Amino acid sequence: MPWYHKPQLKFDITIIGAGILGTSLAYFLSHTTKKKILVLEQAPEVAYHTSKRNTGKVHAPFLYDPQKKKLFAKAAALGFDMWEIYAKQKGLPFKKDGVLEISLDEQGTKRLEKYLSWGEQNGLKKEEMKFLDGKDVSKLEPEVRCHNAILCTKDASVDYGKFTNSLMEDAKQAGSSFLLDTRAEKIEENKDLVQIKTSSSDTIETKFVINAAGGMSIDIAHEMGVAHDLTDIHFRGEYWQAEEIYNNLTKVSVYSVPKHPEYPFLDPHWIVRYDGRCEVGPNAVPVFSPYGYNFTENIKEFPSKIVEMLSSGAAKMLFDSQFLSLASGEFLSSVSKTVMINRVREFLPKIDPSKFHTRGTAGVRASVIDSKGSFVPDAIIKEGKNSIHILNYNSPGATGALPFAVHVIGELEKSERVKISQTRCGPWQYDKILEHIR
Ligand SMILES: Cc1cc2nc3c(=O)[nH]c(=O)nc-3n(C[C@H](O)[C@H](O)[C@H](O)COP(=O)(O)OP(=O)(O)OC[C@H]3O[C@@H](n4cnc5c(N)ncnc54)[C@H](O)[C@@H]3O)c2cc1C
Repeated sequence: MPWYHKPQLKFDITIIGAGILGTSLAYFLSHTTKKKILVLEQAPEVAYHTSKRNTGKVHAPFLYDPQKKKLFAKAAALGFDMWEIYAKQKGLPFKKDGVLEISLDEQGTKRLEKYLSWGEQNGLKKEEMKFLDGKDVSKLEPEVRCHNAILCTKDASVDYGKFTNSLMEDAKQAGSSFLLDTRAEKIEENKDLVQIKTSSSDTIETKFVINAAGGMSIDIAHEMGVAHDLTDIHFRGEYWQAEEIYNNLTKVSVYSVPKHPEYPFLDPHWIVRYDGRCEVGPNAVPVFSPYGYNFTENIKEFPSKIVEMLSSGAAKMLFDSQFLSLASGEFLSSVSKTVMINRVREFLPKIDPSKFHTRGTAGVRASVIDSKGSFVPDAIIKEGKNSIHILNYNSPGATGALPFAVHVIGELEKSERVKISQTRCGPWQYDKILEHIR
């Protein structure tokens, strides 16, 4: 039965989700257009979920296949300079510390060679990526053991929660409204208008919806009749915090080449955060909810998620022996701290599991699966009748959020949903960014 209420609030564009992407979209839309913008966020703060619960790296684009991960690669390539300028302007932390990507055997080294080529294709300069052998690495980082490595200097450590909060303040000043603690409960389209019933019993009338709801974006797309061929699986990335005695164990963060890059199971890294704290993580444990941080939430969502998986492309994963074997390894590293820390000890033998007492802040990613049962490598943009949906917006999503938001607005401009009236946006120029990302 359709429900229609007299709307209390009217907007041109409503963005669902005030993560780093939804907030970046509000920032650029309120600077470039005359539209009345609303951002709806169910949590009490912006960046409450994945956007604050991550590794905090501004990733260099050498990790991304320029064909298969075209959108992520292009956005990451632009993200570094954009965040650097923004951090400087706002006095926010931006530690340009670099990263060491290591291989443990010949097969891993072959992947590093691929990374060098991808890095160049994605715009990194030769001098920003140094290929090293094990001895070079020992001189640079005496505690690290590896076969080969890439030292990339264009990588930084930041606090994406702080960035998102600052962007929200700027977006508000430019005219955007933010409704926090307010969930979009029910969405109904009526000709050229959309009505959103919220958890605070308001009814919002909007001409257009941008779905930037992170782990809930597939569900919202389905509710609006979009992307029924796609589903998602959630993976919780967990961390362990190291004691302070390890704060100077390495100068840079150390990532190892993933052993199974076709699956979203990364091998945990040695992370040096922007403030010097060190952590091991993240693993990638399959969970049943985008907010599956604990057992109670997962059990609650388990029955409906299993039914959804069995009736979609994700069913293939439930019978894929390699997926199941990798997933059980991730479960093991979730229940056993020693198993998790030992994964990093392979290349940093000095660390001792007994020196890790506290879990870090876990974050959940939603990986999209297509109807054939394969993980989709790139971000997905789908247009509906009165809506646009951003799906599979995973790592390096925080790095690329600003240019990706410009890209989405460029798509809306193409389909004449928005008209750009001004191109200057704080320290950036909208048209210049769009030119680079296309
Ligand atoms: C463990 C981990 C480590 C990562 N590390 C990095 C890194 O180092 N560097 C990097 O670049 N990227 C990293 N990423 C990826 C990056 O964090 C994400 O790509 C990015 O944060 C996604 O932002 P988002 O705004 O799309 O999603 P989110 O941050 O999830 O925001 C979506 C928002 O929508 C809200 N929402 C959902 N449904 C509704 C509704 N119905 N009504 C109202 N609000 C709703 C949610 O509450 C949420 O706040 C990492 C991810 C994980 C999981």
